[in-house]
Amino acid sequence: MKPAERKEVAIIGGGPAGLIAAELLSAAGLAVTIYEAMPTAARKFLLAGKSGLNITHAEDYRRFTTRFGAASDRLRPALDAFMPDDVRAWAAGLGTETFVGSSDRVFPKAMKASPLLRAWLRRLEAQGVTLLTHHRWLGFAEDGYLLETPEGQKIVQPDAALLALGGASWPRLGSDAAWVPWLSERGVDIRPFRPANCGFDVAWSAAFFERFAGEPLKSVIASSEAGAFQGEFVVSRHGVEGSLIYPHAAALRDRLERDGKVFLTLDLAPGRSLDRLTRDLARQDGKASFSNRLRKAAGLEGVKAALLRELMPEAPKADPARLAAAIKALPIPLLRPRPIAEAISAAGGIGLDQIDDHYMLKALPGLFAAGEMLDWEAPTGGYLLTACLATGRAAARGIEGWLARG
Ligand SMILES: Cc1cc2nc3c(=O)[nH]c(=O)nc-3n(C[C@H](O)[C@H](O)[C@H](O)COP(=O)(O)OP(=O)(O)OC[C@H]3O[C@@H](n4cnc5c(N)ncnc54)[C@H](O)[C@@H]3O)c2cc1C
Repeated sequence: MKPAERKEVAIIGGGPAGLIAAELLSAAGLAVTIYEAMPTAARKFLLAGKSGLNITHAEDYRRFTTRFGAASDRLRPALDAFMPDDVRAWAAGLGTETFVGSSDRVFPKAMKASPLLRAWLRRLEAQGVTLLTHHRWLGFAEDGYLLETPEGQKIVQPDAALLALGGASWPRLGSDAAWVPWLSERGVDIRPFRPANCGFDVAWSAAFFERFAGEPLKSVIASSEAGAFQGEFVVSRHGVEGSLIYPHAAALRDRLERDGKVFLTLDLAPGRSLDRLTRDLARQDGKASFSNRLRKAAGLEGVKAALLRELMPEAPKADPARLAAAIKALPIPLLRPRPIAEAISAAGGIGLDQIDDHYMLKALPGLFAAGEMLDWEAPTGGYLLTACLATGRAAARGIEGWLARG
């Protein structure tokens, strides 16, 4: 295509959803400009890489597609078109080989995002994509999109645009959800953002959190309506957080919203059955200290023993059966989710009924949306990035089709 004939696409937001859309659209011969508010692109992606980037998940694909809750069916065509193996092949094409970890999570061999992002940005540059950082979208201007740029405000009027502005968690990395009122005013229904994959507040005693904040509880089982999972979490000053909490977070948050109270139930001694624990506790010398009995019979010491005392100050010390039951099913009362600014991801955003099958906003023809700004949520484990990439691609295909028709 001659430059004058090339249709122009503006991609607002340079996270994974925006970058992958830019990749497809530039490969299709369109003139693509990414407008990114921050000094560099994809800051959240880079941060995700600091804690061992989970790029996708290798579990059975049918199960994979159910991980998006109420949005699972709606996201399915986009996921089908960019399946976990496609994510891995795409990363490999950018020089990032991946491996399947013990939990079926897929990680880059380098365990970080920066080499992949560098190669990705080089590919985009080679394909002619213009990336303009320090360019913040400020809302709609009469015939276009108002941007704040280092040279002052300007209005751009592309042939089509994609919003890929992210959700509302970790706003200091760029996704601050400032766009919510601008789209609402234009008739787009936005569901309130709520924390997902987050920690929870617990009313710890000062003595407990001053001594144990920051301590991990390893190899415990946590149960909620979401299921029972083994792993570890951390006691924080405010409550509980970490990888074992996140798979429960959506169910716990929803139950708190409905009932005003919820418990996460802990098995502090997963390796020992209730019977064995009862027998081992009963066998202890009655004159031994409670701490010694817990350590010898149940292997509990440090933060685990302290948690039992904290949550059950009246622990039935002299009743082995009841004590064993408490160790196997210790309820932690949760007060509320931690603030969204600390959450790994957000639920809420643009209602999926607000976009057509090609990810175009029904109220604003020519404007598309993808990634975490749409109303879906998923656990950690690579589902988030996979869906951001898949919806970014689906929106790019939508833009191509829309421009081809116009
Ligand atoms: C600590 C942490 C660890 C994570 N680990 C994983 C993981 O291992 N695996 C996984 O699958 N997911 C993980 N995630 C989630 C994943 O990073 C996000 O789901 C993903 O980055 C969302 O992609 P996105 O493109 O939709 O939005 P974002 O990555 O949030 O990108 C949106 C972009 O839009 C820009 N922007 C916002 N407003 C404007 C504006 N007005 N004008 C211009 N630009 C704007 C932002 O600056 C940002 O660059 C993690 C998240 C966090 C916080």
